Amino acid sequence: MEGKRPWPRERPPFPTTSGLWGKPTAVNNVETLSVVPRILENGAKWFQSVGLGEGNFGSKLYSVSGDVNRPGNFELPLGVTVRELILNHAGGVVGGGKVKAFTLGGISGGMLSGDFLDLTLDFKKPQEYDAFLGSGALVVLGEDSCVVDFARSCAVFFEDESCGKCYPCRIGVVRMRELMDGISGNSSLIPDTLDHIKEIGDVMTTASACGLGQSAPKVLQGMVKYFSEELDFHITKRICPTNVCGFDANNTS
Ligand code: SF4
Repeated sequence: MEGKRPWPRERPPFPTTSGLWGKPTAVNNVETLSVVPRILENGAKWFQSVGLGEGNFGSKLYSVSGDVNRPGNFELPLGVTVRELILNHAGGVVGGGKVKAFTLGGISGGMLSGDFLDLTLDFKKPQEYDAFLGSGALVVLGEDSCVVDFARSCAVFFEDESCGKCYPCRIGVVRMRELMDGISGNSSLIPDTLDHIKEIGDVMTTASACGLGQSAPKVLQGMVKYFSEELDFHITKRICPTNVCGFDANNTS
């Protein structure tokens, strides 16, 4: 809008004090604006009575995609559990299987395993597990999915999306994608240890200039944390347990 190259700016100052043309600017998304008429109609107390309270008031638009029977958007009280959202509203996993993993915040808020079905989807609780609700979008992986293949897709996406302004993100997204290519059998670059993935993720999280680079490694960090056994199969045995990655299923070397 200012006619410049659309690169993220250093913060602070935040847009509310110095935004468009250096003036205070309020940027609200459609979801926020959509609840304004109902708050004006019903009052703030009504809005505060919905949800978990204490910073988690009102309803939230949750979006569910991936291996579910009924993908879509669901407006529910803030703080619904993963179990209720996926099993009751999104119709459960395709084929009746279990939830193997799910992401939060699209793919920017982290990836947790199916052991977290009782997690409440609010703005506080997921942070205890290094995840965040963000946009409220979940991608669900069923038992037949491969978390390594999925993490590689995420790495490809972030490599494509990085604007290239700062080094930690510009270089980090490429290194992440290269490592995932190797782990998933798409190149010969195989890490000796998982420390390399952790190291790249830590640098990107702490040193990237904006939220994209800071959150880009989160799915890979979740993969290392919750799916180390599956990861080990890929790295040391060159086997994909779900036979999604391009290895020979009978490879025993
Ligand atoms: S973190 Fe990535 S997207 Fe953000 S400014 Fe740096 S290079 Fe650009």
